[in-house]
Amino acid sequence: MQICLFRDVDTDKWLYLCPMSDKLTPQQRSQCMSRIRGKDTKPEILVRKGLHARGFRFRLQDRKLPGRPDIVLPKYGVAIMVNGCFWHGHKGCRYATKPKSNVEFWQSKIQRNQHRDEVTSAHLEALGWHVITIWECELRSADALQSRLDVLADEIRNAGRAKDERSQQQKASAAAMKKEREQMLERQSRLEAEINAMFPIPKRIRKESFND
Ligand SMILES: [Zn+2]
Repeated sequence: MQICLFRDVDTDKWLYLCPMSDKLTPQQRSQCMSRIRGKDTKPEILVRKGLHARGFRFRLQDRKLPGRPDIVLPKYGVAIMVNGCFWHGHKGCRYATKPKSNVEFWQSKIQRNQHRDEVTSAHLEALGWHVITIWECELRSADALQSRLDVLADEIRNAGRAKDERSQQQKASAAAMKKEREQMLERQSRLEAEINAMFPIPKRIRKESFND
């Protein structure tokens, strides 16, 4: 199988097998790519471990949500995407370097990923999720990783508070609407009683007219 090296952002070494060569068949290319883009990519594991250590509980790759976000915290209404800088075309990032060969193939692939990320975020936000994107390059050193995770933890808690406030407001407005409706019904029946008292209708006729 024709392979070439790929830079690992953690160690800055050329490590991964990468299907950049023209000589690959489509099957070989996708086989090779699936090895790189596994379900448990390293940055994602780092984020998961960090969140777990900070006491957060979450779901992984929720199939019911658009774009299957990497990490989902339903309690806080937060969906997290952990993106590789190269694959998702991190803008202005030095680790998102484009390969020199097969440029068109990579460009269109990365553009597709970027577009899909945008659509997914918009979709999730429309459903009321707070979307957080973490880039691989933010987790490069141990210090950077820890401070990014601390910032992330704050962001999650803030989003959770905002979610609770929203649901409290919704509950309050639902309660207000219910009360308003009850008052309206009460006014209506009071009015009916007043009218009936003013214009007494024989019981028989009233009954018939109500049955119309
Ligand atoms: Zn980056």
